[in-house]
This record gives sequence, structure tokens and C-alpha cells, in this order.
Amino acid sequence: MRDYESIVILTGAGISAESGIPTFRTHGQVSYWEYVDTNGVPKKHRVEDVCTPEALAADPELVHRFYDLRRAGLASVEPNAAHEALARLDREWPGALLIVTQNVDDLHERAGATRMLHMHGALKQALCAACGARFDRGDDLPPGTPCPACAAPRLRPDIVFFGEIPYHMHRIETALAQADLFVSIGTSGAVYPAAGFVRLASAYGAATLELNLERSEGSGWFDESRLGPASQLVPQWVEEMLSR
Ligand code: NAD
Repeated sequence: MRDYESIVILTGAGISAESGIPTFRTHGQVSYWEYVDTNGVPKKHRVEDVCTPEALAADPELVHRFYDLRRAGLASVEPNAAHEALARLDREWPGALLIVTQNVDDLHERAGATRMLHMHGALKQALCAACGARFDRGDDLPPGTPCPACAAPRLRPDIVFFGEIPYHMHRIETALAQADLFVSIGTSGAVYPAAGFVRLASAYGAATLELNLERSEGSGWFDESRLGPASQLVPQWVEEMLSR
């Protein structure tokens, strides 16, 4: 069996599904956000239509409300066995390791992971669109809230919307170039650039492994795919890695 030194792990919404945070796509279906507005009228939006810079410009109340509800929802969820297992690998793996999450929840860090990056931002942070300052936020973010640093009324959720450039791309690409193992967990392979990481890692010579509930769109690019719930597959794989 091949020996590994440097690991990059990409996680997606599927790793948090068993904690009770819904994914955007399962069985290829797009999710809808359904709610009742302040006039008591039922509303339904494609989630992908709410998470865009165009939606923020056209209807800031709607976009802020969507993310405020998601941030509030974090209070009632806990890391699951998959987050715990990755945190254990982070503590015990002697080589290089980087967990890159597409998730905006805080379950990896609450499980204790430290060698990690949020490439799509974080629900518990706000970003000033005027000066670029970032702030931790536990409360709601009404549109027009002034920035504590520059006072411009342009605070927005610190989230990378569809169509925006993810954070930390230089660090991620450097880690992928040095990795000898790339593992993708609970991601549909539909959102780029993350969906392209498997081909990048493979082109640089890494072995590639997918752990997902079902075959993802990019499944054919992986050397190996293991199918099942993350709460079972991830602890098994971590045990394998730590007993090599
Ligand atoms: P996705 O919603 O597009 O796909 C989720 C994948 O997880 C699917 O392939 C599904 O089969 C798999 N899955 C579902 N339950 C699983 C389980 N129990 N175990 C293992 N796999 C499981 O997710 P994505 O590709 O990560 O994301 C698209 C975008 O949506 C990302 O930008 C992400 O930030 C955002 N998102 C984030 C969260 C979150 O922060 N928790 C939740 C939903 C969407």
C-alpha cells in the first residue's frame, strides 16, 4: 500500500447533513427555500437564486434574512462523527494536512479541527463591501448596518456567492500541488472551482478518494469511491489512516 505524507481533504454540505443542516443537492435535485413573509404570504425560492451578488443588490432584505436564519440554526446543531473523526486526524496525523471546507457552518472548528480553511466564507462573520473589514457576528445583520471600521452601510454576510471567487485559492492550490492524497467528502462536484480540485490534485500526482452518499458528478475522476453516510465512512477511513 502506498504511503502518504501530505493530505488535502475537501468537505461539502454532505458532511453536515447528518447534523441536521440540509444540503443544496441530493439525487441531483436543487433545494428550495420556503418561508412565510411578514404579510403571511407563503414564498418559495430556488436556493441558488438567493445566494448571488445580483440577489443581494436586488433584494438585500431577502438575502440577509436567508443567512440570518441559517446562522440562527447553528445554535441547534452539533458536529457529527465525521467532523469528530477529521478533527482527530488533524490532531494525530504527523504529516501535512489541510481541510478545505465549502461549508459556511462552524462544525469543523467546533469539533476541534484547526488545520482548515473556509473557501466559501462563514455564517458567523460579516464583511464590509466598502472597506473589506471582517467581523464576528452572532446577531442578525439588517441591510444598512454601518461598518464598525469605516461606517459605510455596506455590511454583508461573509459568504462567497455563486459567481464570486472563493477565498484562499493560492494556499489551496499550493497544498493540492504538494498533496499525495486528496479526499473529497460529501460534495456533489457541481460547484467550481472546488469540483476541479480532484483533477488538479491528480495531475500533480496525488491519489484521489471520494467518500459520498452517492456517486458525485465528478466521480469518474477519482481513483476510488466509497459510498455511504459520512458519519460511517469518515471514521472508518480515519482509523485506516492512523493505523497505517
Ligand atoms: P451539495 O448540497 O451540492 O451536495 C451535497 C452532497 O452531499 C451530495 O452529493 C449528496 O449526495 C452528499 N450527501 C448528502 N448526505 C450525505 C451524507 N450523510 N454523507 C455523505 N454525503 C452526503 O453540496 P456542496 O457540493 O458542498 O455545495 C454546494 C454549495 O452549497 C457550497 O458552496 C456550500 O458552501 C453550500 N452549502 C453549505 C452548507 C453548509 O454550510 N452546511 C449547506 C448547504 C449548502
